[in-house]
Amino acid sequence: MRDFADNDTIAAIATPPGDGGIGIVRISGENAGFVADKFFKAAKKDFSVLDFRTHQAVYGKIIDDKGNIIDEALCIAMWAPNSYTKENVVEIQSHGGSLVVHRILELAINHGARLAQPGEFTKRAFLNGRLDLSQAQSVMDIIQARTDASLRMAAGHLQGAFSAEIQSMRHSILEIIAHLEASIDFPEDDIEDVAKQEAEEKIDAIKNRISEILKTFHTGRILRDGLMTAIIGKPNVGKSSLLNALLREERAIVTDIPGTTRDSLEEYANIGGVPLRIIDTAGIRETHDKVEQIGVEKSVAYLQKADLILALFDASRPLSQEDLDIIAMLKNKKGIVLLTKKDLPAQIDTEDLQNLLQGDFKYIRISSINKDGLKELEEEIVSRVYSGNAGQAEGCFVNNLRQAEALQAAQKHLEECLNTIRMGMAEDFIVIDVRSAWEKLGEITGDTVDEDIIDQIFSQFCIGK
Ligand code: GDP
Repeated sequence: MRDFADNDTIAAIATPPGDGGIGIVRISGENAGFVADKFFKAAKKDFSVLDFRTHQAVYGKIIDDKGNIIDEALCIAMWAPNSYTKENVVEIQSHGGSLVVHRILELAINHGARLAQPGEFTKRAFLNGRLDLSQAQSVMDIIQARTDASLRMAAGHLQGAFSAEIQSMRHSILEIIAHLEASIDFPEDDIEDVAKQEAEEKIDAIKNRISEILKTFHTGRILRDGLMTAIIGKPNVGKSSLLNALLREERAIVTDIPGTTRDSLEEYANIGGVPLRIIDTAGIRETHDKVEQIGVEKSVAYLQKADLILALFDASRPLSQEDLDIIAMLKNKKGIVLLTKKDLPAQIDTEDLQNLLQGDFKYIRISSINKDGLKELEEEIVSRVYSGNAGQAEGCFVNNLRQAEALQAAQKHLEECLNTIRMGMAEDFIVIDVRSAWEKLGEITGDTVDEDIIDQIFSQFCIGK
């Protein structure tokens, strides 16, 4: 039997709020077993939680302090270090009513656990060395992934594909430092020039590798956060129909933004693995029943916010003043022009628009009703998002700004380092810059990162993760 310890033990509801089939309360820390044992009674007589084998699922009852039965449940103990946090973890699986799980959480708190902060389980996994910082961040990306490609990227990060790249560069940098320092310590050995030349070659190679990784940021960011897409066009041009055709894709995931009662403001469509984050879907749908005056200011802001502009023109009707207003708004922008209602006789042509529209646009004719042209639209979007990164494994893509900034800073230090070498300066100076690059890369894996940054990263997680 285990002994009671003073270490902080945390508890939280791990399943989403609301009613569900199963609800899970998770407890982690030295005393997780003691806490759970106070209110979980196994069906088998005299079978204390503390005596459960690790990962054994045990059936029993949740009993409150007055002896009342709260629910039937399964209890699983995962003893350190073979758990998510590497601490003792106990998970209670009860029926998924929100009152039930809250009562169980309350019992855990009354018996010595404290309420976990957002992301605290994963933070402990990181602090206990189970995951590095980049892997820990990918846990959140997995939870929020909206397409297979986003999920492949996040899962690759969690498996450590990206971390391994960074670690391998850090390792090479350490070797360079060791070499340079040897030549500082033993100048008479005449290894100085060789060391410098070798360092120069290796640093150049690492710098190039960083540039390659940074090229994936554009794609990585979109796969993680979605491609902010603005759909613009006069009333009745076919915006809602296109939106419905895109969202009706079988794998499309529609997310309601909490707090909005009717249509959500943003929805995600899965376009060939790219999460298309469509801005203001409610606004687009509203135009169906009320002829909306396109406020110029509003539209300009809307277009500015977007990574991708989809501009719609009704090909079955001559261009109207409203179309011309939109054309003016699109001046010097880039995106995709969609000539809608391809199934009807055409009144305007691609060339008509090309002559009027000044900007960088690809033209595609579509019919939302026949689903015609949608494949071409999908291919165009995918090729834009993956430009330069097609065929590469998403698991090594850099996908968040903090990591991209650390890579940029490391690259800059390596650049300075090369200048120092080329100027014929002493090894000491070279070492300073290489070491800074090594530290910057360590911020990605979490080896060299401030505590407040760690706190800030985990605070973005949900409670119970
Ligand atoms: P919105 O006001 O821009 O959102 O336009 P809607 O999507 O509501 O479409 C306006 C009208 O055009 C509706 O009656 C649609 O059925 C029709 N429509 C939309 N797309 C097509 C299309 O591809 N072909 C045809 N023939 N009609 C379409």
